[in-house]
Amino acid sequence: VNKDKIDIRQLDTLAEMSYPLCMRQLHQRLRSAHHLKHFGRQQYGLFLKGIGVSLEDALLFWRSEFTKGMDPDKFERSYAYNVRHMYGREGKRANYAPQNCMKIISAPFAPGQFHGCPFKTLDPPGLTKALQGNGLSVIAQHEVVDLAKKGHFQLACSAFFSHTHKGSEQILIGHPNQYFDESQRIFTG
Ligand code: SF4
Repeated sequence: VNKDKIDIRQLDTLAEMSYPLCMRQLHQRLRSAHHLKHFGRQQYGLFLKGIGVSLEDALLFWRSEFTKGMDPDKFERSYAYNVRHMYGREGKRANYAPQNCMKIISAPFAPGQFHGCPFKTLDPPGLTKALQGNGLSVIAQHEVVDLAKKGHFQLACSAFFSHTHKGSEQILIGHPNQYFDESQRIFTG
């Protein structure tokens, strides 16, 4: 499903509608700072590939953001390779799979970075703010933050899904692309 059917002009809408919180954070950060560090680029870039963004569109998308903050030559020299690499067109031409929750949750993390699972990386006030920004009620914010505090990151993500997809069945999230597909199934049928 979805393969090669995603229009990059729709990414803002899709982010608001169907991205899990980890990818929302990366998308927003990229839009506001016009840059992401290595782990963030890997995590978000492979997710985009998984939802069906073509290599050509991925290059357009990353280039359009990065060149708001650097000259196009630098993008071509330092970053375009990385994008092509994710699509298996450089290096050992491996077909890299989008990262699952376990991998994202266990990724090394330092302050000032935006990759990782926000249910783990954000402290309770930061997570509360992010949930509020995504339209969760105060009661829902508490429920999700409580699960995250107990270390149940994927259950927190599943609860976030339920609260942003009213009337949906409870699903257990194991992969950000699964989150996206389930969401699109609900919203677009
Ligand atoms: Fe992303 Fe998985 Fe964390 Fe949800 S549980 S925010 S999909 S890493």
